[in-house]
Amino acid sequence: MTYDLAIIGGGPAGYTAAELAGKNGLKTVLFEKNALGGVCLNEGCIPTKTLLYSAKVYNMAKTSDKYGVSCENPTFDLSKIIARKNKVVRKLVAGIRGKMAEAGVEVVTGEAIQVRGEEKTVQDKIEIVCNGQTYTAKKLILCTGSETAIPPIPGLKDTLFWTSREALENKDVPESLVIIGGGVIGIEFATFFNTLGAKVTVVEMTDEILGGMDKELSALLRAELTKKGIEFHLSTKVVAVSENLVAIEKDGEKQSIPAAQILLSVGRRPTLSGVKVNEYMQTENPNIYACGDVTGFSLLAHTAVREAEVAVNQILSSSCGGDRGGAMSYKAIPGVVYTNPELAGVGKTEESLKKEGVAYSVKQLSMAYAGRFVAENEQGSGICKILEGADGAILGVHLLGNPASELIVIAGIAIERGMTVDQLKAIVFPHPTVGEIIKETL
Ligand SMILES: Cc1cc2nc3c(=O)[nH]c(=O)nc-3n(C[C@H](O)[C@H](O)[C@H](O)COP(=O)(O)OP(=O)(O)OC[C@H]3O[C@@H](n4cnc5c(N)ncnc54)[C@H](O)[C@@H]3O)c2cc1C
Repeated sequence: MTYDLAIIGGGPAGYTAAELAGKNGLKTVLFEKNALGGVCLNEGCIPTKTLLYSAKVYNMAKTSDKYGVSCENPTFDLSKIIARKNKVVRKLVAGIRGKMAEAGVEVVTGEAIQVRGEEKTVQDKIEIVCNGQTYTAKKLILCTGSETAIPPIPGLKDTLFWTSREALENKDVPESLVIIGGGVIGIEFATFFNTLGAKVTVVEMTDEILGGMDKELSALLRAELTKKGIEFHLSTKVVAVSENLVAIEKDGEKQSIPAAQILLSVGRRPTLSGVKVNEYMQTENPNIYACGDVTGFSLLAHTAVREAEVAVNQILSSSCGGDRGGAMSYKAIPGVVYTNPELAGVGKTEESLKKEGVAYSVKQLSMAYAGRFVAENEQGSGICKILEGADGAILGVHLLGNPASELIVIAGIAIERGMTVDQLKAIVFPHPTVGEIIKETL
């Protein structure tokens, strides 16, 4: 039997592609060697956000006096927090399994290897071997994701350290935690363990945390986190690690930081190297597509999902005719940091506009201009920053303050649809909502 579509990898890219293809009548087989849901559901987006929510609830309990509510001596139990995280993951993975069944997708558990079809000719049939069985398909989508990058830091291979995977399973709060890498994953874990009482230090090689996000807002978030007790070393290189010690160097000066635990989070790299795709996610062989982290482009679950939709729509268009949605657009991919307060941005940053030489103006307002924000964030601060092009187009929106992760969707729609400041201003926002800050800032 020849499948219409084979998909390797059951993360956000793979399961989205499989569901869409199955629902549209394509005979689809999905190979997953570990757990359906991939990194995102099992050891990424969902587990981290579940842990961060527990930390937020604990923090709310500790600071509830500010709202006229008292909670006497709130405590937490990390093993219960982890158990709840595991329950959430199990529930969502079961949901994906149900979706696959509903869409008529055949799910095969095992490591799949593409054995034929790598030639760059259209005619070749594609063969995949999994568990000793050969599967033939007309089209293939590679969705094999990414893995933690391990840099060659002296001493690392002889030292016990955490990656994000181990950090999600640990049931004791370390007395001190040194996080190598101040990207999104590192900063989210910094918030989590800091809230639970660990002495957290973040070492970042560049001059600001959260590279790629708006620099001004990242610095403001860093200041907030510093107030909460997290220590940051910027423009600093980790030169060696050993059991309980991290040696760093800044401007030629060396220092050692004690570390009961080390968390390595310097980024992720695709499981396959050199996968190149066009705007329809097709590789050089037009019957083979690649979506999600494996392309090494965005390394975000929501990008993976949209890329999978684009790929399957293209496959359906080529087999059934019609235009089902068009090429992949990277114009409005939101970036979110689920700290407390949250930071989110979409579209261009000031840094990227300057680099591209694009003229822009900045509209910026404190979150306190939104009544709902003031009502819900006692002594809280935040910023809404909107970047406007010379023609009035909204080029970028950046938010610091809760719930930035939800509000950024409004901005994403506006940017993706090419809306101007005046067009977005003419939309009615419900009152009172924190989202009104966007309309207010425009
Ligand atoms: C700690 C952490 C937090 C994160 N938080 C967020 C977040 O908040 N928001 C966000 O957007 N992104 C987040 N990410 C990133 C997100 O998890 C990834 O972008 C997303 O999972 C990519 O989806 P994917 O489908 O491309 O790959 P993956 O989710 O990596 O899935 C790939 C799957 O392919 C399987 N596979 C690989 N090779 C084979 C093979 N040969 N045969 C069979 N199966 C195979 C793997 O087992 C895996 O299940 C986070 C990542 C981490 C590590």
